[in-house]
Amino acid sequence: MDGRTAPLVERLPARAFRARAARGPDARLAEVLSTIVDHLARVVAETGATRDDLRRLIGFLTEVGEHTSDQRQEWVLLADTLGLTSMVEAQSLRRPEGATPNTLIGPFWREGAPARADGESISIDGKGEPLVFAATVTDLDGLPVAGAVVEVWQANAEGLYENQEPDRQPEFNLRGTYRSGTDGSVTIRSVRPGRYGVPKDGPVGRLLQALGLGLMRPAHLHFRVTAPGFQRLTTHVFDRADPALDCDPIFAVHPALATDFSRGDDGTLRAAYRFVLARARAGEDSV
Ligand code: FE
Repeated sequence: MDGRTAPLVERLPARAFRARAARGPDARLAEVLSTIVDHLARVVAETGATRDDLRRLIGFLTEVGEHTSDQRQEWVLLADTLGLTSMVEAQSLRRPEGATPNTLIGPFWREGAPARADGESISIDGKGEPLVFAATVTDLDGLPVAGAVVEVWQANAEGLYENQEPDRQPEFNLRGTYRSGTDGSVTIRSVRPGRYGVPKDGPVGRLLQALGLGLMRPAHLHFRVTAPGFQRLTTHVFDRADPALDCDPIFAVHPALATDFSRGDDGTLRAAYRFVLARARAGEDSV
């Protein structure tokens, strides 16, 4: 066995699966499942999978199901931490060169973030290190996009979103909706976001730990920028100095999404970012 191609005997079920599924009513389902089974045949051969490995795999997947409820989605966390969500996101929402990359929206977005005037703060409880975030919205040619809706949401200094601890943070703390001015700019007042870890008390967190992988997400703010005639942009902006920047467990970091958080002469922590929107094409996600 050369390790690249499954021997015939391992491949037989995959071949039979494809042939049988092709006779069914759903061509897309048959193609996707047959491709997965083809890859599984290769995984079995290349890893020399044993009965014990299969038992462990089934035990793990069973636990993922047991940890999923209305309050918690361990399957989504598994898809995120395997990079699957980010890969599908990138493939589904290709951006032209120069446009700000799209990322997954994450589990903490909430509809209805309160409208904020330019320069107003989204920190309702006033806790944390003040941050002034200067955002600019432009098109691919660098021309300002006026009247863009800029939604922002972030964790507090302890790395917690308001909907994770409704008894400790005011509702809609660190969430807001701004509109860009005629020069495309938006001034957001907030506090420095804390980094936070993906849940470690379930099977996915334990798996990452068993692999020696980090659980911490680099500090970031989330944004969703919409403007008529442009593709909607959902993204993160990361603190470039965060040591976890290179090992985000959900693979949302892109070099173009990092910015400097630095103290100006007046001692205020500042960050700036230019969101570059791509024009919507026919049939694409636009507003
Ligand atoms: Fe986040």
